[in-house]
Amino acid sequence: MNHVRVRFAPSPTGYLHVGGARTALFNWFFARKLGGQFVLRIEDTDTQRLKEDSVSQILASMKWLGIDWDEGPEVGGPCGPYYQSQRLEMYQKEAQRLVKEGKAYYCFCAPDELAQTRELQRQTGQAFRYNGKCRGISQTDALKRIEAGEEAVVRLRVPDRGQIKVTDLIHGNVNFELDQLDDLIIVKSNGIPAYNFACVIDDHAMNISHVIRAEEHLSNTPKQVLLYQALGYNIVQFAHVPMILAPDRSKLSKRHGATSIEEFRDQGFLAPAIVNYLTFLGWSPGTDQELITPAETVEQFEISKVSKKAAIYDTKKLAWINGQYLSSMSLNDVIGETIPFLLRKGLITEMQAGEQYNSIKNIIDVVRNRVKTLVELTEATEYFFKDVTEYDEKGQRKYFSKPETTDLLRQGRDSLEQIECFDVQHTEAAYRQLIEDLSIKSGDLIHPTRLALTGRMESPGLFEVMVLLGKDRCLARMDRAINFICKTLR
Ligand code: GLU
Repeated sequence: MNHVRVRFAPSPTGYLHVGGARTALFNWFFARKLGGQFVLRIEDTDTQRLKEDSVSQILASMKWLGIDWDEGPEVGGPCGPYYQSQRLEMYQKEAQRLVKEGKAYYCFCAPDELAQTRELQRQTGQAFRYNGKCRGISQTDALKRIEAGEEAVVRLRVPDRGQIKVTDLIHGNVNFELDQLDDLIIVKSNGIPAYNFACVIDDHAMNISHVIRAEEHLSNTPKQVLLYQALGYNIVQFAHVPMILAPDRSKLSKRHGATSIEEFRDQGFLAPAIVNYLTFLGWSPGTDQELITPAETVEQFEISKVSKKAAIYDTKKLAWINGQYLSSMSLNDVIGETIPFLLRKGLITEMQAGEQYNSIKNIIDVVRNRVKTLVELTEATEYFFKDVTEYDEKGQRKYFSKPETTDLLRQGRDSLEQIECFDVQHTEAAYRQLIEDLSIKSGDLIHPTRLALTGRMESPGLFEVMVLLGKDRCLARMDRAINFICKTLR
């Protein structure tokens, strides 16, 4: 029987961020490699931080990335419900058990009273610790006070001294001094469990074997170990994956660019490229390999090989990987990914997407190697779908302002008009012939023609562009450019 069960436990406080996605992915790799189960649990007890639609956004992003879960929302499973807000009874029961066993107690200290103690401790340079004022209240007295309407939290009785040793599969042994911890609140006065408490109860109730999560939770781990001990549960194996820092080693934030999976998708990044990128945030197969599929990672993944050192978030690298996927994916897949962007930008209609599939395919094929994202790809195809009405300003100065340009464009236009079989071979031959006849440099004709046909200084091969535009559009655009030059630049 396989005992490996891992979980990803997001709090629905917003979109799925790179860090969360990376944690989910590492859990998923681990489960898939060892033939275990990957559980998704929604930690939605902190009602103040909840954001509407967050769960559906997180689920959608996970699905989009291809991270499927064996148990959890939508799929159910034997350890449900998988929303903490639906498990409150279980937390209450366990809290009461701890109180009965004398391992936890009701605390009636009011928030302002605690604030005063905190202030005093601050002034005397002590670390803030709960002073244990309610530790001695008997259970009977406490229950009476609660019945009389007094508000109370439940606190875990934490030994004053000693050490908690956490064995982490990535960080090794980490020791925590108990005198740094105080009697932690496990149930708030509104009856809602604190994160550490709900998390431990659920990890146990859901038979989780390994808790793989962000390093920021390492400091919660001794508290959770204390809870495992108090509750009499077997302790899971912990693995804390390294932080993801911005290039300047500061905390990752909005100012470092997109950080949520949704934003990346909207910016034209492909799911497999993002997965590839996240895979290397803290893990590597130990070779120079930069492109890797989830199946390959699953085969090679070892949690002990995950780095302790913070991973640096580098969107340039992500863009590079995305570009690699764009040029190596099947053309049909790239088209499938690009069409929604073309539609959204209004470059094609649904009907055209079907009827003109082949010409769209040819256009995408000539530009896909030149771009890194689907947004760039869309933007690079614009002049194939829309008339050119503006010309790059630098291009105008460089190519259109020469006195001989209109004449050259006119001759170029006429030579194109003569071509019967308007393909790359014939358009190129016609242009080369003209260049030779006029004894000019090829750029003298090619550059202004490119600007006339595309409005830009850069494009895929000019003759491929000509063929994709077709003869009529080429002639019309040459005429329009000639007119433009005569009217505005002369
Ligand atoms: N809900 C916690 C978070 O989103 C989960 C922490 C854990 O995995 O234990 O950070």
